[in-house]
Amino acid sequence: MTNVLVTGGAGYIGSHACKALAQAGYTPVTFDNISTGWKDAVKFGPLEQGDLLDRERLDEVFATVKPAAVMHFAALSQVGESMQDPGKYWRNNVAGSLNLIEAAVNAGCLDFVFSSTCATYGDQDGVVLDEQSAQMPINAYASSKRAIEDMLREFEAAHGLRSVIFRYFNVAGADPDADVGEHHIPETHLIPAMIEAIQGKRDGLTVFGTDYPTPDGTCIRDYVHVCDLVDAHVLGLKWLEDGKGSRVFNLGTGDGFSVKEVIDASRAVTNMEVPHSIGDRRPGDCVKLVSGSTRAVEELGWQPKRSTMQQMIGDAWRWHQTGHYAE
Ligand code: UDP
Repeated sequence: MTNVLVTGGAGYIGSHACKALAQAGYTPVTFDNISTGWKDAVKFGPLEQGDLLDRERLDEVFATVKPAAVMHFAALSQVGESMQDPGKYWRNNVAGSLNLIEAAVNAGCLDFVFSSTCATYGDQDGVVLDEQSAQMPINAYASSKRAIEDMLREFEAAHGLRSVIFRYFNVAGADPDADVGEHHIPETHLIPAMIEAIQGKRDGLTVFGTDYPTPDGTCIRDYVHVCDLVDAHVLGLKWLEDGKGSRVFNLGTGDGFSVKEVIDASRAVTNMEVPHSIGDRRPGDCVKLVSGSTRAVEELGWQPKRSTMQQMIGDAWRWHQTGHYAE
């Protein structure tokens, strides 16, 4: 069996990727410091606990696991927090990734799948965001991801590292079997925060700003189901195995939903009201992020199957009612 080192395999997207990798015949070996992830989420392969800032531990893991490839999910990912504490993002995301990339190159592991973000495009009003769009991040989270993309390109030129970079739009939903799902403390992302509000686990949802230049005044995002997203990662890994070389792919559906539309959709799916109030804008938020790309569909053969808003909220809702991790 082929080992794939999955950093952040105990987290939301990483744990779904481990399931998809295992189903595709790989052994996903999770590397995670369990700071924001869950040991209970590591169900589809072994856990190597460690921190990306610990280079010695990384070298040890590469020597014992001998992965054929790396899938790098581990990162801090909250826009608001990144604006308040940018140093934390540059240290954890950028310095941590530098350690990982150097350790991989050192071990001769030269196939690398990286989770980047559409937030690297920043606020570009009226521009279709495809892979050729300029990257103009407006928050430290996105800046840290763009820096890692640059790092990957430079390590390719110098050391032959090959990368598939996925720029995610907004990831949502959960494993339909509820084996794994989304669980953050505190929860900052819209759909799970909305579900927590419905369940009475928080004092309602705050809508961050209703004065944006959009039809209903709230920000617009392109939501993609986590299971579709991780399917693309397995295709990306095969792309590298087939020697097709480094490539960037957006992962989104091309459909934009405003915050208010997501709240309305959730009412339709759950038959419950979302207790919510209107708050200030959240620093660092882009007005509109919608993918204009079909490259992943055309080149990777990616076929999103579950990325309707109804399915994403339905799967997330089911997970929040049935699945859980020990805290
Ligand atoms: N949002 C909101 N209230 C919340 C969480 C998010 O109004 O409690 C909004 C947020 O301002 C953004 C959208 O929902 O416009 C998606 O935010 P999220 O944090 O889920 O993802 P991001 O786009 O920051 O990656």
